[in-house]
Amino acid sequence: MAYPISSRPNRRYLGNVNTMETHDLKNETLSCQVDEIIAAGHAVAFYPDSRIQAESEEYESCAWCLGFVNAGRAQSSRTRRPFDEQS
Ligand SMILES: [Zn+2]
Repeated sequence: MAYPISSRPNRRYLGNVNTMETHDLKNETLSCQVDEIIAAGHAVAFYPDSRIQAESEEYESCAWCLGFVNAGRAQSSRTRRPFDEQS
């Protein structure tokens, strides 16, 4: 279940009830604006504190802090490809 919080939680995941997004506080970026979410009174924490729990309550993953898997793939595509050396 999600429950409202009024300060930065000692937890991993934080939801925004206004945008219905989940943020990963261990991978937080400035673009997440977590302090602004808390200040606006839109912050919730999850019990249990898991991404699966957040998804089960229809919160979507933030692209900045929970989209890092895709960002890693984009970087790895810059590695040299063996086909480039064949003519
Ligand atoms: Zn985020």
